[in-house]
Parts: sequence; structure tokens; C-alpha cells
Amino acid sequence: MYEGLCRAAESEPSMRMLHRARVAEVGQDEAGAWARTDDGRRFGADLLIGADGHRSLVRRAVAPGRPDAEFAGYALWLGVAQERDLSFAGRWPGGLDIRDSGDHVLLGYPLASADGSTEPGERRLGWAWYDGTRNALFRRLGAVRGSVSHHSLRATDLDADVRDGLAREAASRWPRPWRDAIADSVARADFVGTPIAEYVPEHLACGRMLLVGDAAHVPTPMTGRGFGTSLDDAEALARHLRDVDADCVPGALLAHEAERLGPARSLVLSGKGFSSSFSRSA
Ligand SMILES: Cc1cc2nc3c(=O)[nH]c(=O)nc-3n(C[C@H](O)[C@H](O)[C@H](O)COP(=O)(O)OP(=O)(O)OC[C@H]3O[C@@H](n4cnc5c(N)ncnc54)[C@H](O)[C@@H]3O)c2cc1C
Repeated sequence: MYEGLCRAAESEPSMRMLHRARVAEVGQDEAGAWARTDDGRRFGADLLIGADGHRSLVRRAVAPGRPDAEFAGYALWLGVAQERDLSFAGRWPGGLDIRDSGDHVLLGYPLASADGSTEPGERRLGWAWYDGTRNALFRRLGAVRGSVSHHSLRATDLDADVRDGLAREAASRWPRPWRDAIADSVARADFVGTPIAEYVPEHLACGRMLLVGDAAHVPTPMTGRGFGTSLDDAEALARHLRDVDADCVPGALLAHEAERLGPARSLVLSGKGFSSSFSRSA
């Protein structure tokens, strides 16, 4: 997907891509906004859009009183296995399979193979395991600090006994072929654990700065709508900025906020029910 997005951006004459550039600081005054990268380059413009994800730096400038998305009190383990690598002789799942087991929920979903095959036995099986019981592990490894989710854990960040414990628990908790898919991902040390974060926005715009996507709103992945809502943000913003003079940018961003703040808040709040029933003492 990243390559497709790059190709689309490069075909736009007005767009310039900078790869491997980390923004370290942002600011604004009445005339414009700017970003400075960690190698010291400064980029000035009429406005600055923060599309920098759930740990947004731009959010620090737009919402300084509440800059961080909060740990939701549970984690999500994610992996993908090839059906042909699993010793499973039963009937392959036809579509999304949701399993609920107390402090745990599993979503299993068949995916097309790398060469596009959707033939059962030749596909890939994705699994997403919501886990409300391993918060202490995420804290011990620094992935959660205080009330903030900092980063995901790769399988290789985990001790072998933690990985083996996940495979053992999968074997007792989940039916085949999902437990086989999990065991396979664990054996290959190819999965990630993400401490889930949430952010209900109170503002999207501040002067010449605006937040879109996960910088603006962080829902639990259980909503399944974070990406689509982010695209809606981008479409709305393009509409609000069409033919706008530099002087009128702050007003256009406020008009965007008036349109998008409600959907952004509804998205995150729609997942809060799941989170509050599922999260355990963080
Ligand atoms: C585990 C998981 C599962 C999900 N499943 C679904 C799903 O099934 N359906 C769905 O619709 N949504 C899902 N989502 C949500 C979806 O992934 C997000 O809503 C979407 O990726 C948001 O896009 P974004 O561009 O705003 O942020 P991101 O995809 O996070 O992109 C932000 C970009 O900004 C860059 N960046 C950050 N800081 C800086 C900086 N200082 N300088 C330069 N660059 C920076 C990052 O490197 C990144 O490339 C899921 C999320 C998670 C965590």
C-alpha cells in the first residue's frame, strides 16, 4: 500500500515527497506555519496538516492540554499464517470468525494469498487476539508508560517463555485452525503485540494547524473504521481548502473542524463500550 501511495503522490506535480525525514518541531504565527526536521531543515507554508498518527507531534501544538492518546487497558496480538503451512485437515473458514472467551476475543479472517489466490487451503489466515490479561508485560517492556501507549512489541522483543505461553494459551482457548495459525506465527516469531490506545478529540484545528486521521482521533481497532474515517477527513479537507487564500486558511480549518469533529468523536466513542467492558486494571 505504501508503494501505491508513493506512486500516487509522485504523480501529483504539486506534491513533494521527503523520505526518511522525521519532524522534530512544529510552530506557527499569524502569517504561516512551519515544521523542522530532526536534521535541522525548516519547511514553511500557509498551513500545516498533522497526519502523523496516534502519537502525533502536531497534536502537542493543537491540543497542548491533552496531547496523548490513552492506553485503553488491553492489547492486541496480530499475525498471519499460510494455510498450506498448517497441518489442518478440517474445513477451512469461509469468512470472518469472531470468538469470545472472557478476557479474550479472537478475530480470525481469511486473506488472499500473496499471488491473489482465494482458494481454501492456499490463502493466508490473519488473526487478531484481543488480550486483557497481559498489561503488566507491556508495562515491564516499556510499551505502556503511565497512561500512554508508546509502541508495539515485536515477537522478538518477547522472551521465549512468553511466546510459548501465548501458543499454549491459544491451544487451550481457540479452536482449529486459528490456534494452528497462532502456533505457526509464534514458531516463526512473526507477530506483533499492540497496546491499544484511544483519543476522543476536543479540537481538530488551531490557527493554521489541523489534525487528520489517527492524529485527530484514535479508536480501538475493534471499530474497524479508523482508516475509512481518516480518508473521509482528507476528502473533507480538500473541499474546505479548495480556492482558499492564505489569509482565509484559519477560517477554512475551523469550517473543517465544524464538519469533522462530530464524526471523529462518534467514531472513538463507538468503541469505548467494547473497551470499557473489556479492559482490565491497567
Ligand atoms: C492493530 C490495528 C489494527 C487496525 N485495524 C483497522 C481496520 O481493520 N480497519 C480500519 O479502518 N482501521 C484499522 N486500524 C486503524 C488504521 O490503521 C488507522 O486509522 C490508520 O492507519 C490511520 O492512518 P493515519 O495516516 O492517520 O496514521 P498512520 O497510519 O499511523 O500514519 C502516520 C504516519 O506518520 C508518520 N509519522 C509519525 N510521526 C512522525 C514525525 N514526527 N515525523 C515524520 N513522520 C511521522 C508515521 O511514520 C506514519 O507513517 C487499525 C489500527 C491498529 C493499530
